Amino acid sequence: MSQSLFRSGLKAVWCPGCGDFAVLSALTGALEELALQPHQVGLLSGIGCSSRIAGYVDVYAFNLLHGRAIPTAEGVKLAKPELTVFAIGGDGDLFSIGGGHMAHAVRGNYDLTVICMNNFVYGLTKGQTSPTTPLGMVAPGTEADCPIDPVFSVLAYSVGTRASFVAQGISSDPKHLRGLIIQAVRHPGLSFINVLTCCPTYRKEPFLATKDRSRYIDESHDPGDLMAAMNLAQNPVTDAPHLGVFYRGDGRK
Ligand code: SF4
Ligand code: MG
Repeated sequence: MSQSLFRSGLKAVWCPGCGDFAVLSALTGALEELALQPHQVGLLSGIGCSSRIAGYVDVYAFNLLHGRAIPTAEGVKLAKPELTVFAIGGDGDLFSIGGGHMAHAVRGNYDLTVICMNNFVYGLTKGQTSPTTPLGMVAPGTEADCPIDPVFSVLAYSVGTRASFVAQGISSDPKHLRGLIIQAVRHPGLSFINVLTCCPTYRKEPFLATKDRSRYIDESHDPGDLMAAMNLAQNPVTDAPHLGVFYRGDGRK
């Protein structure tokens, strides 16, 4: 198979079996399907295993300070509105170190696509509990407290604001994820995708439990109904998480 137009020459150094490979593949596939060219795309990432993605794509990409992908992406979009701009990071980068930025990205409804590669762990620093690690799970030196649900959090930020598009995918279904990324890019305004993904080196159990219980959102769900989206998201992350588009606002600026 020929290499994607959007893959850089750098070899991805993620561990064998890491879910991040599937996200990279879904992203490059989506960019191709959107018929974009590399010079039309900006990608900002923070720090962490998943944030290495900035080096593996051949677009305008920048691997930033920890947690600062979103505000930098906002600046890029304001300066170069013609670019399709992504902010990408892990669960720790986007919901702990950079957690404050998400609320304000939603408030501003910037036309960005934010992708959280949520593997329930700090992988790069060798397995500490992250903001999404399930309650009670033990890591060296720590026991996890109550987890944040990224989908529910972003939906909650959307109450009373102008934003926008909230979806959830899974690294075991990159084709479905590619479709979500395409929809997110086409949505005018802030789009957020939480990707449930696996760190087989430090914490594969939450992903495996999630994968077994996940189900696709069916057609009876109205993505224009924010309260219905919040009801769907109320399942704890290890208890039947839903996959698909939870919410699509009108994207008004
Ligand atoms: Fe992936 Fe975990 Fe390895 Fe990091 S430590 S590359 S998240 S498998
Ligand atoms: Mg992580």
